[in-house]
Amino acid sequence: MSKRLTCLVCPRGCQLEVSDDLVVTGNFCPRGIPYALQEIKEPKRTLTYLVKVEGQKEPLPVRTDVAVNKSLIFPIVEYLNKLVIKAPVTFNEILVENILNSGANIIASRPRR
Ligand code: SF4
Repeated sequence: MSKRLTCLVCPRGCQLEVSDDLVVTGNFCPRGIPYALQEIKEPKRTLTYLVKVEGQKEPLPVRTDVAVNKSLIFPIVEYLNKLVIKAPVTFNEILVENILNSGANIIASRPRR
């Protein structure tokens, strides 16, 4: 049975269809094909989130430096909810290496003094 999904690679949001024999249709450009096949096999997402900074009211925006398995998003969010980092932090500084053995680092999306 074929599967339908929306391509999230760019804002165009093509409606893709993947047949049983893994033929992708509905993609306006070639980037939709690996996206659709990855989504069928092992969906991944880049996570963006906010973490607390010791002694500061304003949380710090962070993200994973690579996409992680969708199944790990919730455990990573739980981990980040408990995390308190210390400033100063530079842009793209690694705050947590290989979080939960996902292969992704948590990095700062902004600098903070
Ligand atoms: S298939 Fe190409 S054009 Fe369509 S949403 Fe994906 S990246 Fe964008």
